[in-house]
Amino acid sequence: MQLSTYLKIYPCQDQPGMNIVYSTVRSSVVLLPDDLLEAARRGTLPDEERGTLASLGILTPDREGEREQMLKIFDIPRPDTPFSAIVLLNLDCNLACPYCYEASFRGKEYMSGETAALLVETIRRERIEKGQPVKLTFYGGEPLLSPDLIRAIAAPLKEGAQKLGVAFSFSLVTNGTLLNRASAEELAALGLSGAKITIDGPAELHNKSRPYLSGNGSYEAIMRNVIDIFDIVPLQLGGNFTQGNYRDFPRMLDDLLARGIDPARVGAMLFAPVVPKAGERAVTDFNTDCACSYEPWLIEAGIFLREETLKRGFPAPKPKLSVCMVELENSLVINIDGSYYKCPAFIAYPELRIGSLTEGIADYMKSHSMDIWKRDECLECAYLPICFGGCRQLTLLRNGKINEVDCRREYYDTVLERVIRQDLEYQRTKP
Ligand code: SF4
Ligand code: SF4
Repeated sequence: MQLSTYLKIYPCQDQPGMNIVYSTVRSSVVLLPDDLLEAARRGTLPDEERGTLASLGILTPDREGEREQMLKIFDIPRPDTPFSAIVLLNLDCNLACPYCYEASFRGKEYMSGETAALLVETIRRERIEKGQPVKLTFYGGEPLLSPDLIRAIAAPLKEGAQKLGVAFSFSLVTNGTLLNRASAEELAALGLSGAKITIDGPAELHNKSRPYLSGNGSYEAIMRNVIDIFDIVPLQLGGNFTQGNYRDFPRMLDDLLARGIDPARVGAMLFAPVVPKAGERAVTDFNTDCACSYEPWLIEAGIFLREETLKRGFPAPKPKLSVCMVELENSLVINIDGSYYKCPAFIAYPELRIGSLTEGIADYMKSHSMDIWKRDECLECAYLPICFGGCRQLTLLRNGKINEVDCRREYYDTVLERVIRQDLEYQRTKP
């Protein structure tokens, strides 16, 4: 048995002689004294400790084999791996957020009834009838401007899946203004399993960055809806911050608590910086699946907001094995015209279209640089399981093409230890 390649080891400053050992493959953490860590390095651990550390992914039978496994990690999806599709229902919105990256192609464009019917037929034939579970994410624009399309897609898929004993569910990425209790109840009956709602900080900040088309603020309407539905739909809440306003965001958390929301019933609280438009420096936040931060202020902002979230009892996502959906064979984006992409941000790049409901899926190995992380530098990197070459969109924004990894080594060097320590601290102090 050898120490896994995919470990980070941090000496404990407050407990001399102890080390935090973190597996990036399993997200497991153990505290190991120097002597046991040395024995693990030499392969001389007693049986019991060896078994425990192997079960936590800290030890591996052989590093060569572990590297081989990593190379093939996305090659053969398990038969029960769900088909996940982000379905764009429209490019329309009832808000006018100044930072919206879709602003350049926003308009009164909606998926047609024929495309929705074709989508249902395709998913039924290619997935459900083959026994594959299906998870859709309705996206826009604002997906709740298309309630009829949601019904037209979800109802027949749910019925077809139920008949065959296959799981079907869907979630929404929504601005939250239209998700009131009545619509949440109706959609829950059709398979709604979660909603991601954006709240950009306390009222005065949110209303500036997420106004209605009329210019009026949307904060009150969204907050009312959140309070009305959090007991029937698992919610992921959180918004987009800037360098100038992130320190005020905790007041939004306080407002949620003051309005009686139970933090333990919120699915996750996750903040991300405003995503830059093409040509600007590329940044997003830690540990979304689309994660990265390069600027020191962003690292501080991410850690600060995570701390304030945990302090108030809201769940914050933990670092975990995660990968860009581009890597996952069973993940697709379906645009309003039925064309296929591998990331919602790619619909602005016609050269990254990979097929359609009528044509099927084309080979995208080359156009999306699928093997970009299969090189020694990444395979020997402890961060590989939480990185896999990073975000292709960010490389695209930086270089105009997907021609290199979006390396996060510097970022993780600065941030991962602090995040692990945060989690250990909040686990320890949990009532
Ligand atoms: S390319 Fe980037 S933004 Fe797109 S799915 Fe992958 S990680 Fe997310
Ligand atoms: S891109 Fe950088 S951080 Fe990511 S696995 Fe490769 S070397 Fe490590």
